Amino acid sequence: MQQDPSCIFCKIIAGEIPSHKIYEDKNYLAFLDIHPISRGHTLVIPKNHSTDLLHATPNERKGLLEIVAKIAPAIMKSVGAKGFNVGINTGKESGQDVFHTHVHIIPRSTRDGLKSWENMPSKTHDLAEIARNIAQNL
Ligand code: AMP
Ligand code: ZN
Repeated sequence: MQQDPSCIFCKIIAGEIPSHKIYEDKNYLAFLDIHPISRGHTLVIPKNHSTDLLHATPNERKGLLEIVAKIAPAIMKSVGAKGFNVGINTGKESGQDVFHTHVHIIPRSTRDGLKSWENMPSKTHDLAEIARNIAQNL
């Protein structure tokens, strides 16, 4: 199990700084986000330190989503939400602030006032060229 002594989430795992834990097993921990976007906003992390999704192990990536599916119903029930968003910021350009792999669970309700990103008309982009380039880079 990798730990980074300078990592704030590793410190939470080690119990060196407090958190509001809602789920824990051998490999994963879920706790409330200290600056919630909505009531019940939860972070799920692997206990093994990695900086982001691309550096987590394949098992951790699968395990994180399994934990999301396991705990999201209880989160929604507890805060009276009817849905939730999952967010995984990857890279500082995405807004990632904490470089320990984590998944956001953000409970949602009708008319909760939260806005999602605005879509653009697809003609603004050359979808065919973008798809071809991505496929070539796989
Ligand atoms: P991100 O922008 O995806 O890196 O999100 C990091 C999240 O961690 C933010 O939403 C912070 O509010 C949250 N956070 C930072 N420090 C703590 C902490 N000590 N306890 C709980 N959540 C935290
Ligand atoms: Zn860490």
